[in-house]
Amino acid sequence: MSDYSALFDFIRSRFPGQSFIPLHAPVFYGNERAYVLDAIDSTYVSSVGEYVNRFERMMAEITGIAHAVAIVNGTCALHLALKLAGVAPGDEVLTQPMSFVATANAIAQCGADPVFVDVERATLGMDPDALETLLAEDAERRDGGAYSRASGKRYAACVPMHTFGLPCRIERIAAICAQYSIPLVEDAAEALGSTSSGRSAGSFGQLGVFSFNGNKVATCGGGGAILTNDEALAKRAKHLSTTAKVPHPYLFDHTDVAYNYRMPNLNAALACAQLEQLPEFLANKRALAAAYAAFCQENGIAYVAEPQGTSANFWLNAIVTDGLEARDALLVAANGAGIQMRPAWGLLHRQPMYRHCRKGPLDTAVFLADRLVNLPSSVVPPSPQRA
Ligand SMILES: *Cc1c(COP(=O)(O)O)cnc(C)c1O
Repeated sequence: MSDYSALFDFIRSRFPGQSFIPLHAPVFYGNERAYVLDAIDSTYVSSVGEYVNRFERMMAEITGIAHAVAIVNGTCALHLALKLAGVAPGDEVLTQPMSFVATANAIAQCGADPVFVDVERATLGMDPDALETLLAEDAERRDGGAYSRASGKRYAACVPMHTFGLPCRIERIAAICAQYSIPLVEDAAEALGSTSSGRSAGSFGQLGVFSFNGNKVATCGGGGAILTNDEALAKRAKHLSTTAKVPHPYLFDHTDVAYNYRMPNLNAALACAQLEQLPEFLANKRALAAAYAAFCQENGIAYVAEPQGTSANFWLNAIVTDGLEARDALLVAANGAGIQMRPAWGLLHRQPMYRHCRKGPLDTAVFLADRLVNLPSSVVPPSPQRA
């Protein structure tokens, strides 16, 4: 593909009247204003409030996971979830090299090292076969867990990520983790509304984490959530995210070195309004994805399709170009034409702070990183926009 004008025209036709077409912009045409003003009027803008409670109930309902804990952002949610899973200094945590840097940072913030496992072409997520091979060659079962023969360190958790909202092969990953007694924590930051075999992303391991950053499917400015079916873990998540304070009307006593990772009620108000519209957002994004898929099919472009047996939220649509040169030519042309496109993240094992980390063969991640391009994927606002 060297002539991009047809693709650009197609994108402009889907986002009419926009001189700059962003990769993913939020839309606020529901109860956002009303709820945020209501939170201000209530004076409960900070750590506690009805919107925080409502947000947690809505997340539990949407995901079908018993307990939700509102957190200040996705990165903090992942950090705390890993702590709750038992990740401690000196441990190792299996994850994928193709992810946003927060995935590896949360691991490092626990004092652990990421170990990078390749991704697969079809899902862009962790490759269960690569995980299985690495563990079969290197893992040793003892003391109720799995240890690396190469490093002597404990595999304290496994953190696959549902890339761009496309579900990875999470059932197989969960089965492998169970076989080795390795806790599974899903980085579902990008996958709100995505399902695999009808089950929500984030529901397959001990803990699942979501993000509500400004660029995600639903946003509250900044926000995150930890989801779990384990009531004790949920209580602990709430406790540790709220300075581990012993509940009391006026005394300040604390049980642990803990965190101020609470989602403010002001943000939760925005989140509730966005979650109310999630089904609408998902339908809107699915329609755009179907149009992209059809256009790409007709024009010989390799569109990354919804993995079999899953329902994606289509957070970001992606294509696979012919190589680094083709990728960069497209990125230059698109961004020059006011159409925001971007490549996949710089691979995590190549970032200076993670170069020392152990890894399996990462051929597919390297192949994809040179070729992937994300296309504008915002919810198309109703016209005329009510906001
Ligand atoms: C967005 C994102 C996060 C972090 O979420 P924030 O709310 O921005 O802190 C973590 N992991 C992945 C894969 C993400 O895309």
